[in-house]
This record gives sequence, structure tokens and C-alpha cells, in this order.
Amino acid sequence: MDLRGKSFIGWASGAEGGKTFTAINPAIAQPISPNYFSALPGEVERAAQLAAEAFTSYSRTSGKERAVFLREIAKRLEGIVGELVIRTNQEAGLAEARIRSEAARTVFQMRLFADLVEEGSWVRARLDKPDAERKPAKPDLRSMWRPLGPVVVFGASNFPLAYSVAGGDTASAFAAGNPVIVKAHPAHPGTSELVGEVILAAAGACGMPEGIFSLLFDAGTEVGTTLVKHPLVRAVGFTGSQRGGRALMNLAAARPAPIPVFAEMGSTNPVFVLPGALAARGEQIAEGLHGSVTLGAGQFCTKPGMVFLPAGKEATSFSESLSKRMRESASQVMLTPQIQSAFSGLVGARAKQSKVRLAAEGKRAAGEAGVRGVAAMFEVQAGDFLREPELSEEVFGPAMLVVSYGSREEMLEIARGLQGHLTATVHGTDEDLREYRDLVEILEQKAGRLVFNGFPTGVEVGHAIIHGGPYPATSDGQSTSVGTQAIYRFARPVCFQNFPDAALPNELKDGNLLGIWRLRDGALSKD
Ligand code: NAP
Repeated sequence: MDLRGKSFIGWASGAEGGKTFTAINPAIAQPISPNYFSALPGEVERAAQLAAEAFTSYSRTSGKERAVFLREIAKRLEGIVGELVIRTNQEAGLAEARIRSEAARTVFQMRLFADLVEEGSWVRARLDKPDAERKPAKPDLRSMWRPLGPVVVFGASNFPLAYSVAGGDTASAFAAGNPVIVKAHPAHPGTSELVGEVILAAAGACGMPEGIFSLLFDAGTEVGTTLVKHPLVRAVGFTGSQRGGRALMNLAAARPAPIPVFAEMGSTNPVFVLPGALAARGEQIAEGLHGSVTLGAGQFCTKPGMVFLPAGKEATSFSESLSKRMRESASQVMLTPQIQSAFSGLVGARAKQSKVRLAAEGKRAAGEAGVRGVAAMFEVQAGDFLREPELSEEVFGPAMLVVSYGSREEMLEIARGLQGHLTATVHGTDEDLREYRDLVEILEQKAGRLVFNGFPTGVEVGHAIIHGGPYPATSDGQSTSVGTQAIYRFARPVCFQNFPDAALPNELKDGNLLGIWRLRDGALSKD
């Protein structure tokens, strides 16, 4: 497909009027054609109007109809994987294998949401029998989850497919019955255009209304800001920095009618290696940790950024092993020049801190081209870590901080002081687990996913997964941005009181026409 560099406003192409920008190929640090035109204010307005109009009919489609649409997107995405391999590689510097696996994940995610809404029980239908004899009379109450309205999605730089134009936010918003307006990430506009074209073609093929999907480009933050403030927009999905996420949360809260912003803003993902595990498997844990920190140049929101160990001989051997591996790590191409410069700035600043020791830095080969990051490992004592709260902040890239503590109490104090994270990991033996039960109880308050004897990178897409966590990891610690439960971010419960059967949604009618699971007078049934 020829890339045109223009937004999609419903079925129409945007104009060539706005400020332009180009993607940068991080492997060679050179711009890639074509130029992309920022959406004009009138186009942003039209996308919002069309989405609101589309909501009227799309919100009333059945789960089966939405499933057909989502599967059509999945099928057409499979058809462009070859093109994505070329363009996404140029724009994000990702290897073919990674692009193929991310594309497969994106396709799987669409189909998983298709299965969910086709089956239909996700709406959490509840029916409470009336009782006219009771004083006062008990009404007939029936409730279910309904879509919100137009959802704005901000594509993520570090997942150009799985968390961008046709990613988890878009899939879950469509599945719930909402139109979607995507604000493309400027790091991968060509990938965004290719995927946007597929969604529009699928919408056309399935007879979906115009405005169910728009894709807007922007050289800056104006389009995103206007969308979040737009009165017809009902919710926002975002993956990126705490600065960006917080700015959108503030904008949404300041609207005359505030709307929810589901921002996944990343975290440092603490890892606790308990004494029994350190003694039994220290070398093996160091090897796994190194793999997890350097995977994808450390540009995952689940990258483990800090590890806590009991000081002593075993901690010293662990640190020696990890630092040797970090020192031997080759530099890697990073996603964007901005991300690379933020990474090297944070590493440089940390290296200058008097209480922190730069224990290892990865290899830089002579003549290396492109936007590259080099692995870095820092060490600090627990007391100093506790005195310097900024040491627990995310360094997005292949960096890791090793913290050694002198006592169990000191380790628990660190755990109690943690902010919200997406994950927290514990390496331990059965005996460690018994002895450090209180650590696990504290961590449960701090993270959305607790990992035992494993590593946090690699987020499974499924029904039980939680990719969330208390602020500042996300804006809303009660939700997940990965897995089928992500659908509830873009829906809300509505109760129908004393409605005649014929006027109720099919999910709530007496006869259970859809054969879904419902809570009838407190008991789950398909009756
Ligand atoms: P970002 O700066 O947060 O940007 C994400 C998206 O939000 C972009 O489309 C951006 O548009 C938009 N945006 C940012 N601030 C905005 C504002 N104030 N108003 C309206 N729109 C706004 O993230 P990024 O570009 O992907 O990477 C920058 C940093 O974010 C990284 O260095 C890293 O620290 C962090 N990050 C974290 C994760 C994670 O999962 N933990 C993932 C990716 C990035 P513009 O680009 O046009 O500004």
C-alpha cells in the first residue's frame, strides 16, 4: 500500500493543510518518507461528530455483529504482516521476529474480544425479582454493562501494533460497543496508517457506520489535547509516560463534565530475591534478570528496574554475575531519539549521585550507527535508597538498580514505601514464602500482578491477567489494560427498573434469549 501521510476522518482522507512531521528510522537516525500532515481543527471536530453519530447505531449492535467486525479486522491484519515487517522495522527498529510476534498478539487480542462479546456474558446481567407484597413493594430491577460513547486512544511508542491503532485499547473499546478515535503515535505513523486502513476496510465490509473509527496524526500535542477536552468524547485510553498520562488526566478532570482516562504509565517493577532463593539459585536468577532487563532494549513497561537482596557473600556473587552480564551486553537500537536521549540523560544523572555506584555499563562498538542504548547497572545501599525517593523512578531502557539491605525490617520498610507498580516479583523457596508472608501482603497493595520465581516481562493476554496497578503505574488501579477484563474500562452499569420485557435489552429479557450467564436473585444461572 502507498502511504499518503494523511489522517482518516471517518471514510474520508484528511487534508494536506496541517504542520508536517516524518518518522525517524532509529537504526540509521534518518527521516523516512512520506511527510505526515497534522489533522486540522475542523477535522478533529468532524471525527468527534462522526463518532458520536456512529455510537447511536454501533452501541445497539449485538455481540455477534461486533464479533464479526473484530474478526474481520484480525483477518485483514494477518494479510498485511509482510508490509508491517518492513515499515515497522524502519520506524521502530524492531526485528522481524518481534514484529511478527507482536502482530500475532494483536490478531489474537482482536479474536479474544470477538469470542468474549459473541458469548455475551461479559455484560454481567443481573435480575432481581419484584415483590409486590413486600412493604414497601420491591421493584423489578435488571442491570447490565453498556458502552460509554466515543473513546480516544493514544497509541504507544513501545508497542507499535499491540498497544497502538488496533491494540488492546481499541479492541476492548470496539468490543464494548464504542467508536474509537486514535491519536497516532508520531514515532510510527506509517505503521499506524497501514493498520488504520485495515480497520476502515473491515468496518466497510461489515456495514459499520461511518465514524466508528478515525485516525488522526499530529506533529505535537494539540490534537490529543482537543480530543480529550471534546464534549462528545467519553473516555480515553493511553500508554506512555507519567508526564503525558498525568497531563491527560488533569485535562479530563478539568472538563465541565470530567471523563475517565485509563492511562498505563509504566513502573519500575521491583524484584525481591529472598535469602533461600539467593543461596539456592542466585546465578540462575541473575541470568534471568539480565534477560528481562535487556529484552527489547529495556523498553517494556514491565521491565524490572530494581532488585532487592539481603547483603552478604551471596549478594556479592549475584551482583558480580549480573554486572558481568550487563557489561557484556551489546548496545541496542532504541525506539526513538527522544527515548534514547531521556534514557542516557537519566543514566548520566544517576551515575553522578554520590551514594550510587555505576557497577557496569554495556559495550559500545566503534562506528555503531543509529539511536542506541547501552545497558547500565547501578548499586546502592538500602539506607541511601530510602533517603532518595527518585531512585525508585522508572528509567525507560536497559538499566537496573541493585539494592542491598541489612535486615528484614529494612527490606519491609522499602516495600511499605513503594509507590504503585504494574508488577512486583518475589524469588523465594517455600520456607522463604512462609517466613516473608508479610512482604507478599505488602506487595499485594502495591502492584497489579505479583510474579513468583519468574520475571515480569512477557504479559500474557487472557481472562485472568491484570496489567494495571495503583497510581502512578496507572491512573485507575481498579482496571487492567490487557486481557478481557479491559472491556470494563469502556462500559458502565445501567439498571432498568420495572421495564416491560419487550422494552428490555435482549440480555435482560425473561427468556434469556442469548443463553448467557446471569445473576438471578443472587445465583448465577443460564436459565
Ligand atoms: P509520551 O511522551 O507519554 O507520549 C505518548 C503519546 O501521548 C504521544 O502520542 C504523545 O504525543 C501524547 N502526549 C504526551 N504528552 C501529551 C500531552 N501533554 N498532551 C497531549 N498529548 C500528549 O510517551 P512516548 O513518546 O512513548 O515516550 C516518552 C517516554 O515515555 C519514554 O521515555 C518513557 O519514559 C515513557 N514510556 C513509558 C512506557 C511504559 O509503558 N512504561 C511506554 C512508552 C513510553 P506527542 O508524541 O506528539 O507528544
